[in-house]
Amino acid sequence: MAEDLLRVRDLSTRFFTEDGQVNAVESVDFDVRDGEVFGIVGESGSGKSVTALSVIDLVESPGRITSGEVWYRNADLAEEVRDDTPEAVDGEFVDVRRVPENVRRSLRGPSFSTIFQDPMSSLNPSLTVGEQIAEAVEVQRRARSNPRSTRSRTQGYGLTDLLSSAVLPSKSYVSDESRAEAIDLLEQVGIPDPAERADEYPHEFSGGMLQRAMIAQALAGEPDVLIADEPTTALDVTIQAQILDLLRDLQDETGMSIMMITHNLGVIARMCDRVGVMYAGEIVERGTLEDVFDDPVHPYTRGLLGSIPDLDDPAPRLQPIEGNVPDLYDEEMEDRCYFADRCPKAMEECLNHPPEFEVGATPEESPEGGGGTADSGERTGEHTARCVLAQHEYDPSQALPNDYFESGARRKSESEPEEVSADD
Ligand code: SF4
Repeated sequence: MAEDLLRVRDLSTRFFTEDGQVNAVESVDFDVRDGEVFGIVGESGSGKSVTALSVIDLVESPGRITSGEVWYRNADLAEEVRDDTPEAVDGEFVDVRRVPENVRRSLRGPSFSTIFQDPMSSLNPSLTVGEQIAEAVEVQRRARSNPRSTRSRTQGYGLTDLLSSAVLPSKSYVSDESRAEAIDLLEQVGIPDPAERADEYPHEFSGGMLQRAMIAQALAGEPDVLIADEPTTALDVTIQAQILDLLRDLQDETGMSIMMITHNLGVIARMCDRVGVMYAGEIVERGTLEDVFDDPVHPYTRGLLGSIPDLDDPAPRLQPIEGNVPDLYDEEMEDRCYFADRCPKAMEECLNHPPEFEVGATPEESPEGGGGTADSGERTGEHTARCVLAQHEYDPSQALPNDYFESGARRKSESEPEEVSADD
């Protein structure tokens, strides 16, 4: 089995709004391994994008990461920070939440890179595409040339560069080498005539080409982990397939790991090795692609799978999941399973908030999660679910009445959704 590259433990992020505290991410645990694609899937508002932003510490006010650890395996970084922040180091792992902010920031690019959903709003319309990619390359080149590179990567385009560019317009921040490398990157991501296209502005690119350019920019730092947040949502279907193939090819070439954030189960089935299903800020089921697609346990996962069409058997009506994701306001979150008001299997015991159970394990064998070191909370099993059904069968004699929850939308049907294979 590949080694863990990232161990996220007990990560929680809150938004402190005028209307109240929103618990967007709630005690999330997951691992990303060397060279794998780990997918996070869920409805809009389930907390998947905030989870990704929390991993790379890009949550903006009024949001704040309130607890948790993000252990990243990097022996060089561990050596560098061991003396100053020994509590942040465990063997080759570093808890990037506990290192100084400048070090944490310096990891964006060479360690973690991101591509976003809408490339048009992520690129600067007043600079050519090539210039923007070359800038990203230049930042990494300058960092690599400095012996204390980990910290110096924070030196992007600084005041000195700005002033010298203004006084000496011919003095560009970006070197010719970086421009050449930007063209190579454009070629690597499949842009035809990359040297000419590098001189064009974002509005001259199609949506698919822009997404390729974003990927080229993200690759500039040769990241260990590429976070792809809904990378194909804004594209039409044929282009979506091309972008997903491109990401897979690039991963094969570079060996990087990918965190794929999406609401689209088809993307998960096509791309991912392992997957976490998010609901109401929690990962409610986690496992290999086969665990989650062929043997789902959590009724929410089963509902998601039952609500997509099966091309081999199109006759049955799709079964939507009735109701909506809760608002996640702290004062409205009761101490029960967050899915209970939509769950067709809700029982009396579900009125206590379920921990994450290892599927099929006894209560004593199930992990308890939590943080402290890179090893704590390590899983013995691949397949976990935050649902009592991970431990025992549904007991109709314990069922809650359908009208138990005032605002709920529990399905009256006891029927199970059609199972969907990972091959579909
Ligand atoms: S814990 Fe209970 S209410 Fe929650 S998903 Fe499982 S069966 Fe449904």
